[in-house]
Amino acid sequence: MIGIIGGSGLYESFRDMSDRKTDIMHTPHGVIDYTTGSWMGERIAFIPRHGPEHDLPPHRVRFKANIWALRELGVRRLVGTCAVGTLNQKIPPGRITVPDQLIDLTKETRSFFNGRREGVRHVDMTEPFCPALREVVREVSVETGPSVHIGGTYACFSGPTFETAAEIRMVKVLGGDLVGMTLAPEAKLAREAGICYLPVCMPVNWAAGLTRELLSHKQTLEQVGQMKGELVNLIRWSLGRFPKERDCPCAREH
Ligand SMILES: [Zn+2]
Repeated sequence: MIGIIGGSGLYESFRDMSDRKTDIMHTPHGVIDYTTGSWMGERIAFIPRHGPEHDLPPHRVRFKANIWALRELGVRRLVGTCAVGTLNQKIPPGRITVPDQLIDLTKETRSFFNGRREGVRHVDMTEPFCPALREVVREVSVETGPSVHIGGTYACFSGPTFETAAEIRMVKVLGGDLVGMTLAPEAKLAREAGICYLPVCMPVNWAAGLTRELLSHKQTLEQVGQMKGELVNLIRWSLGRFPKERDCPCAREH
């Protein structure tokens, strides 16, 4: 089973699965709506990150329940799609990007290991995203055409407001290329759950203060609308080539 967590504007894009079945799962961390089905010969579990009605802003997304449910469904390889702002001239808005590093600037800690019965573990995050899945996307993009930027550092804020111009200047000093509100908790929980995590980002605008434009969610959705065909195709062509055996840091016993 391969998991896909869809971000804003992408809920309908993965609905052309056969044997499609929508259900809910009660997890210790909340109730989750999910869809399973077959797509390109692979069994898929799809979760809309912001809830089926898109009524969960980033700081209220049920990250733990989402990852718990996917693990319970047997998912060991997970694709997370998200819209991001960009502050790297080499990654203009509109260019799909698969980052390889992460700076977590969120204010909450989300973990499956909170002591007592859950135990205490400190999981390695040197390489925060799955290098093996990223390599598949690199190969697919070279062979099939979509211009994908591989690499870059994603800086994660809690939201739900967009960042300030000063925060973006700070991210630039820290070496960040992209900013968003969801990847850090998702990637960390996936690693704690032993799931390979592949982020696929859609840069939708220049980050705050880099242009005279103010940021809006409407603009985000418009840009996602323009990019989603390319993004879905990239994922469609990549899924079947994900390695069946896992030989990456994500699968290691921590
Ligand atoms: Zn992996």
